[in-house]
Amino acid sequence: MRTTRAFALLPGSTDGPDSTVLQATTIERRDPRPDDVVVRVTFCGVCHSDLHALDAAVGHLDGPFVPGHEFVGEVVEVGTEVRDRTVGQLVAVGNIVDSCGTCAACLGGDEPYCAEYPTTTYGGRDRIDGTPTQGAYADEYVVRADFTYPVPAGLDPAGVAPLMCAGVTVWQPLAHLGVGAGTTVGLVGLGGLGHLAVKLAAALGARVTVFTTSPGKEDLARSLGATDVVVSSDPQAMAAVAQTLEVVIDTVAAGHDLAPYLGALRIDGTLVVLAIPAEGWHLDAMAVLPRRRVMGSGSAGRPDTAAMLAFAAEHGITADVEVLGATEVDTALSRLRAGDVRFRFALDLSR
Ligand SMILES: [Zn+2]
Ligand SMILES: [Zn+2]
Repeated sequence: MRTTRAFALLPGSTDGPDSTVLQATTIERRDPRPDDVVVRVTFCGVCHSDLHALDAAVGHLDGPFVPGHEFVGEVVEVGTEVRDRTVGQLVAVGNIVDSCGTCAACLGGDEPYCAEYPTTTYGGRDRIDGTPTQGAYADEYVVRADFTYPVPAGLDPAGVAPLMCAGVTVWQPLAHLGVGAGTTVGLVGLGGLGHLAVKLAAALGARVTVFTTSPGKEDLARSLGATDVVVSSDPQAMAAVAQTLEVVIDTVAAGHDLAPYLGALRIDGTLVVLAIPAEGWHLDAMAVLPRRRVMGSGSAGRPDTAAMLAFAAEHGITADVEVLGATEVDTALSRLRAGDVRFRFALDLSR
């Protein structure tokens, strides 16, 4: 085993509505196997899932728990069987670090839906040795090389980190629904996922309508590439957009009424719901009657991830990030909990 500094929730640590307290500590990682690389983490995004995972872990820990599943870093060691990674190379890693590789989903490049369940970057179990996976709020990560992606030259590494979870999560439905020039796309929830959905959809050539509860976000939405902004509490504005959109991407985390957004879809339109509320979704049968579809989606497989990064490089797209030192992780988590973030925090592991 090898050790690395990490920021962890420890057994007995507190976590609650006002604060999350992570401790700088030392954790163990496996020694790299022949198909692994060792990555010195430079930037790690702070995802809403990290907050949810920490909340769920409090009181149930018998060891450290380290979040972080969208990161970039420098390859510092390369396993003997790895042919396409080199020491010094900048790579990015998302929220899946392994899968069976042989089931239909894996063979189709849909590793998130692996029949044996993919290995998550933290909170999972290594497929070979069974040890718990620990995330990238840490100086070093050991990972199968096949689940690393070269960071395209010219993109800000801190802004690339959130592409690996938030970015791929919105990219996958855009790509699989064939969003392109002239497609009418709606976006609900202008946060970490939402701002990337607007950027990516606009770069694909779509006409993007942002739904917001805050009229003050109109300029911000347009600056990201939105064509139209609809204040969702305005019944007249909602009526005007009814049956006009081909795709609506809904990124709002909490359970909410889908009917207004289904109503914005044309016949054959698709509502993509990216949150997974514990209580599930209530569907109004009449609202889906005009051959409308509701589609779930999560993360992305290796081919889609590589395609997203290539597209981001071509169009100069990264996440808008506020970079904080890794030692300020508690501030990042508290502010994220309070909604006080302009799209995404990235932790700089060098400070
Ligand atoms: Zn995430
Ligand atoms: Zn599989």
